[in-house]
Amino acid sequence: MSLDQLLDGYQAFIEKGFASNADRYRQLEALGQSPSVMIIACADSRVDPATIFNAGPGELFIIRNVANVVPRYAPDGRAHGVSAALEFAIKVLKVSEIVVMGHAGCSGVKALLMDYEDTDGIGEFVVPWMASSHEILDRVMSHSAGHKVDTILGQMEEENIRLGLKNLMTFPWIADLVREGRVRLHGMHFGIAKGRLARLDPATDNFVTVERPEIPALKPAPTSHGSEAPAPGPALAAQKDGGAILP
Ligand SMILES: [Zn+2]
Repeated sequence: MSLDQLLDGYQAFIEKGFASNADRYRQLEALGQSPSVMIIACADSRVDPATIFNAGPGELFIIRNVANVVPRYAPDGRAHGVSAALEFAIKVLKVSEIVVMGHAGCSGVKALLMDYEDTDGIGEFVVPWMASSHEILDRVMSHSAGHKVDTILGQMEEENIRLGLKNLMTFPWIADLVREGRVRLHGMHFGIAKGRLARLDPATDNFVTVERPEIPALKPAPTSHGSEAPAPGPALAAQKDGGAILP
């Protein structure tokens, strides 16, 4: 998308989205926001929560970062972006639902698999950013023998969501509200190619596909040989023929 396309998009938004919600936007500025749902999602351009959940202005309080990472509670006086958003969402907006949403093909999660000396140019910030999630790599790799890389990455994406939910509970003012039933935590995973949304079932700790309307049969997803597929990172180059098997 070029800058011209962005500005054309703005014209289209004013004519359609804004025009049809003009009263809503006026009300939102006059009265402020009051979303009841907070979503922590990946910055990935393919997984916009407002699009996936068909949400309008003022309905979702969203924070996005590389690989939807939720830090542990660390009140050390330093700047913590996600924690600041959580504090605002819980204490000011009083949201009642917090969703941690991961997705298929997450490059942040992939970065965990990269060698530190071979980081595809993202070793300065992405790799250190993902270091707090390193335990998911250990957990998945401990039973990954014979698994394809794609399978391992999918498991890591799910573990990353579980870790995010676990870390949310390290915030005492979230944990208290969860125990009182005033805030609920949810894990979700979005499969991009087929639009599959899976929810973490707290009873089984498994991700379960959310039922959805029938849609016409989808065309097969392009292979990594096609031009639409993202290039794998160097440590994952072996998977381009359909998924290497890790030892
Ligand atoms: Zn991602």
